[in-house]
Amino acid sequence: MSHRRVDIFKELLDKIVTKLSENNEVTENDLIIFARLDGKLISGDVQNGSSKISDEQKSKLFINVALNNAITCPICKGYLDVDKSVSYDHIQRVREGGIGVAENIQLSHPYCNQSIKQ
Ligand SMILES: [Zn+2]
Repeated sequence: MSHRRVDIFKELLDKIVTKLSENNEVTENDLIIFARLDGKLISGDVQNGSSKISDEQKSKLFINVALNNAITCPICKGYLDVDKSVSYDHIQRVREGGIGVAENIQLSHPYCNQSIKQ
């Protein structure tokens, strides 16, 4: 079931890249349509205090990142290849009270994410 979500994200990012490479602007509305979130309520600001990263928060994060038009790893500053694996990383660590909301998650290379914690 989570595979379907991954496909949607891939498709979303493909569409964003295609649109940007044609020198078109990607609007928030485009993103909502690309992500097939039209008609769905994005209640992104519900904070339940859980450290678990929900699919909804992942969706919100993808949109936040995509709106900045550059998907780079915050640790090594390299580009993230979304066709390969990316890591969802808590910015404020869970043990320091970090919760699983889009504002507290960053996308990074899985190996960068691991090395920073060692
Ligand atoms: Zn990296």
